[in-house]
Amino acid sequence: MRRWNGWGDERTMYPLRESARPWLYERVGEPTRPPDTPLSELTQQIPDSPLRPHPLLTFDPQERLRHARGQSFPDWVALRCGRVPIFPAAIAYPENEAHLHTLIQYAQANGAVLIPYGGGTSVVGGINPEPDGPAALTVDLSRLNQLLQLNKTAQLATFGAGISGPDLEAQLNPQGYTLGHFPQSFELSTLGGWIATRSSGQQSLYYGRIEDTFAGGRLITPAGVLEMPPFPASAAGPDWRHLVLGSEGRLGIISQATVRITPLPEAESFLGIFFPTWEQGVAAVKGLAQAQLPLSMLRLSNPLETEANLILGAKTGQVLWLNRGLNWLGQRPQEKCLLLMGVTGDAAAHNYTRRAALHLTRQHGGVSLGQLLGRAWQKGRFLTPYLRNTLWEQGYGVDTLESAFTWDQVIPAEAAIMAAIHQAAAAYGERVLVIAHLSHVYPTGSSLYVTYLFRLLPDPDQLLAFWGAMKAAASQAIITHRGTITHQHGVGTDHAPYLQAEKGELGLNLLTHLFHQADPDGVMNPGKLLPHR
Ligand SMILES: Cc1cc2nc3c(=O)[nH]c(=O)nc-3n(C[C@H](O)[C@H](O)[C@H](O)COP(=O)(O)OP(=O)(O)OC[C@H]3O[C@@H](n4cnc5c(N)ncnc54)[C@H](O)[C@@H]3O)c2cc1C
Repeated sequence: MRRWNGWGDERTMYPLRESARPWLYERVGEPTRPPDTPLSELTQQIPDSPLRPHPLLTFDPQERLRHARGQSFPDWVALRCGRVPIFPAAIAYPENEAHLHTLIQYAQANGAVLIPYGGGTSVVGGINPEPDGPAALTVDLSRLNQLLQLNKTAQLATFGAGISGPDLEAQLNPQGYTLGHFPQSFELSTLGGWIATRSSGQQSLYYGRIEDTFAGGRLITPAGVLEMPPFPASAAGPDWRHLVLGSEGRLGIISQATVRITPLPEAESFLGIFFPTWEQGVAAVKGLAQAQLPLSMLRLSNPLETEANLILGAKTGQVLWLNRGLNWLGQRPQEKCLLLMGVTGDAAAHNYTRRAALHLTRQHGGVSLGQLLGRAWQKGRFLTPYLRNTLWEQGYGVDTLESAFTWDQVIPAEAAIMAAIHQAAAAYGERVLVIAHLSHVYPTGSSLYVTYLFRLLPDPDQLLAFWGAMKAAASQAIITHRGTITHQHGVGTDHAPYLQAEKGELGLNLLTHLFHQADPDGVMNPGKLLPHR
């Protein structure tokens, strides 16, 4: 059973290593936390639904609670502390497009709004009903979960948009193919959600971001159906796929999507390479990205994240042994940076790419430790989110944010974001652990992914204000360094105030008009993506 106030399956645990406790205590202080609200107590807070019954709707309180919030830090505070300001009025589980049309008509006739719901893993408030808005009908798409068509000749597969990551791969892999889209939320997130938020998987360097693999599909809007045929390429005006990508439910509901698939790779390896400094690591990763070697992943942790990963993931003896060895090779324990490098493809290309990439990393002082650390990462790649449950239970909150910068801004932006978060925490008399890595790289620049860990203040209002101050400070630093407000998580409500800095006044007006054409009555996921104006 899925946890209702945390991440993932209730049976899966991610215990914290003993050595991690004193390490965290030293960095952020003695843990504290607000008390948890029991499920039964929160369920009692759910008011009667104002909507009238319909065979496609359920008003079950548990269902309404489980669809009320996503996975952002404020979502966790809301569920854990029993402060959910509004619940969806009803939930529907459509099984076909006819049901989607019926639900849109129902919403229009009953003054309700619709919230498309994939896996509910949004970390930006994307599936939350608006606190003062009309009754919200959450449309859970999990029953649109089948492989509908497989065209091996063209390497295209069409799926119901509500299919989850594991189900999608389970239906493709026996046919010899993969989509290769592996976000860290893979276990729960869905194809439709990936498209609607412009998601990026961990091996996007080889398989592409979702915008590279989304070839076509169907969008059910209140104004009609938008069909997007999977042309290999087209010059017939603007490409509708690029308006649907990142539309966050505002244009309509993606019912099915055709994706470009890849034969399962013959060979794959994940190597761990240490660099003496962050600057050398960044230079190496830039060199690799610009050499356009067909690697599948480059993930470079800054010194503190390297240390954190070793403390949280490796045994004390192994860390001592590793530090001693790297010290002997001239790398200082506090400055070293770990690069995880994925190589994926057919056997010959894999071997060539691996050799060429290792040669380049050596030129920047890189020392390869082979596949030991890479294998450990691969084994736990979708387990890491479970650590959030453990940390909360021990009194620590953790949140992440991400952006992308051109190469000239990567190093200054990383320093500025870290400093901004520390400064915001200091204003609350708190310390915060801030770590970062580069994870998706391009010839022109890189994404930057920042994780910050802090004590859970016992008063939920104060805790939210504390988190909000850190998030706002980091967002401002991102804009100052000309980064995007989001490289992969989307906009939702949390990033909406920063959208104008990126899109401009005209850009926001164009979006407003576009949404109005597809959805004249404004029933599709209002309040998301565009700031209230
Ligand atoms: C622990 C964790 C790790 C994460 N790691 C990554 C990562 O590595 N890469 C990454 O890109 N993101 C990541 N995310 C963010 C999140 O998983 C992505 O935004 C994901 O694409 C959301 O998919 P979902 O199916 O859960 O969508 P939901 O959260 O259900 O919805 C997200 C938005 O899409 C809309 N939507 C969903 N389905 C449809 C549809 N069929 N039609 C129209 N609109 C729809 C919703 O209305 C909402 O606005 C992570 C989140 C968590 C909690």
